[in-house]
Amino acid sequence: MSGGAQPVPGRAEVVVIGAGLLGCSIAYQVAKRGQQVLVLEARGICSGASGRNGGMTGAGSALHSAAGHAVYALTRENLRMLSEELPRELDDDFSLRLTGTLDLATTEEQYEHLVASVRAQQEHGLAVRLLDAHEVRELVPVAADRILGARLSEEAGHLWPFQLVHALARGARYYGAEIATWTPVTRIVSENGAVVAVETPRGRVETGTVVLATNAWTPRLLPDLPNGALVPARGQILVTEPVAPVLPYPFSTNFDKEYGRQTPTGQVLCGGCRRLDEDEGLGHDEENVTPRVLSGIARTLATLFPPLSRLRMVRAWAGIMGFTADGLPLIGPYGGIDGLYVAAGFNGGGFSWGAAVGKAIAQLICLGRAVFDLQPFDPNRFAQTGVTWANPFTAGERNNPRSRRTTS
Ligand SMILES: Cc1cc2nc3c(=O)[nH]c(=O)nc-3n(C[C@H](O)[C@H](O)[C@H](O)COP(=O)(O)OP(=O)(O)OC[C@H]3O[C@@H](n4cnc5c(N)ncnc54)[C@H](O)[C@@H]3O)c2cc1C
Repeated sequence: MSGGAQPVPGRAEVVVIGAGLLGCSIAYQVAKRGQQVLVLEARGICSGASGRNGGMTGAGSALHSAAGHAVYALTRENLRMLSEELPRELDDDFSLRLTGTLDLATTEEQYEHLVASVRAQQEHGLAVRLLDAHEVRELVPVAADRILGARLSEEAGHLWPFQLVHALARGARYYGAEIATWTPVTRIVSENGAVVAVETPRGRVETGTVVLATNAWTPRLLPDLPNGALVPARGQILVTEPVAPVLPYPFSTNFDKEYGRQTPTGQVLCGGCRRLDEDEGLGHDEENVTPRVLSGIARTLATLFPPLSRLRMVRAWAGIMGFTADGLPLIGPYGGIDGLYVAAGFNGGGFSWGAAVGKAIAQLICLGRAVFDLQPFDPNRFAQTGVTWANPFTAGERNNPRSRRTTS
């Protein structure tokens, strides 16, 4: 079912709001378990962050806390599903390439950080290696002399986001799910502590189960979500003309501020430099590019890989991420309202989560419990503790201890 003036079905067992990676993954997993699913999407399938991202994926976390273990368990399962389970079930490889990824250091501070974090990750059994400058240039001959070393994370790689999301949407439809595009949900209706319906301009849908997979837009449907718990954050990406293979590994650098990869069709895609955007892109949900950020991204590419400075830039776009105050997503039942679930706020990394979270939410809905530890991702945690901004991804500065800051 696509958009238009026709009314939506008046009833569904499960309503999923949003048809990005999370919505399509949840719809697929719930429909596969035999429940009748209706997906309501304000625009088109994959039109939000899921269709505007870098396509990097991998397992991992800093593993310094209980949350770290829960993150690793889910992201590791996600990688297994992407590489083994879903290709078999959906007959699609999503153009997934598990090449490993390189985290490049260009300053002594970054290099020292890599040395310490590689040691800590190896102690926890993660498949990571420290490379010196010579080893980096052996693997990536176009790498600049200024690159001092890198971490090679083996449980990681890249994929084509559209291919994955559309394969999940097809899979959901195969099991009977309906996807209504151009159908924004305007209100979730609950009575006596339980969800009873959602409202859209194309009619009301009676239902006992609603899942919000609405990423940055989630606060609009959950007015009681504490202010600042989940905020939009604009990211931008620049793409070159296609060239022969030059970047065998996706890369990130500068405490993950910048990142990129070469697609199987030869284009080099690079993003980051949010610190050059207005308010670091935080609080912005306009999907427009800005010249300062794009210039910064072009400079980054030329600085890290000088021969690429000769390439023409052919495309650029912006997308809106959902950033949470503590950098962890919101996954699970919401607000003590029977039948209401959230799976949103995946910051800059939803493709390391989406497949496994789809399974976790489906288990909650269909079995009443998930096999994963979802406690650190409890969507109600900010209502209980208040909101303190400590998002380690702010300005993309994941792992940079100096990026942490506090706001009210
Ligand atoms: C520039 C950029 C680069 C990124 N790079 C990477 C990367 O390399 N690797 C990675 O893993 N992640 C990356 N991400 C993050 C990743 O894209 C997201 O984490 C992921 O796509 C989140 O998926 P989602 O389904 O939760 O959200 P979205 O894809 O944003 O989907 C939410 C959907 O909900 C719909 N919606 C909202 N409100 C309503 C409503 N009221 N009614 C109906 N529908 C509604 C929206 O239209 C949208 O389609 C990047 C993101 C950006 C923007």
